[in-house]
Amino acid sequence: MTAVIEKDMVAAVHYTGTFPDGEVFDSSEGRQPLHYLVGHNQMIPGFEEEMMGAAVGEKREFTLTPDRAYGERDDGAIQQVPRDQFPPEMPIEIGVMMAAQTDQGPLPFTITAVEDDIVTVDFNHQMAGKTLRFSVEVVDVRAAEAEELSHGHVHGPGGHHH
Ligand code: ZN
Repeated sequence: MTAVIEKDMVAAVHYTGTFPDGEVFDSSEGRQPLHYLVGHNQMIPGFEEEMMGAAVGEKREFTLTPDRAYGERDDGAIQQVPRDQFPPEMPIEIGVMMAAQTDQGPLPFTITAVEDDIVTVDFNHQMAGKTLRFSVEVVDVRAAEAEELSHGHVHGPGGHHH
């Protein structure tokens, strides 16, 4: 029986992600394949769905609209913050990415405007609102170990080392 990608398996894939205009935003080319624990929210939802049932050696191409990728942009996630709320040594420039420390862990944001003493920050994921195209090849599929399932991530090559 050929192993295919299904829940609680560990999949290793080579992938290239492009925007609709063809620009590559991420690729495993020249690196080791991406390993993920299937069905444990390690990947964006559409990626998980589209790769279900794929066997080793199989190639799949698919396009994900934002609702199946990183979500739509939320205007409520854009905030204006007084300059003096940032540490003085922090570079306040458009395009700078930082992370706010919250109870839930670091929350990344991007500075999108600086006007007088008001800094506009955007907490939207950088890929929010974008349609993404993926070309994926399955390199390996194996059953996950009990410890990986309880941790919710992959161990060993391509995964966590701890
Ligand atoms: Zn672990």
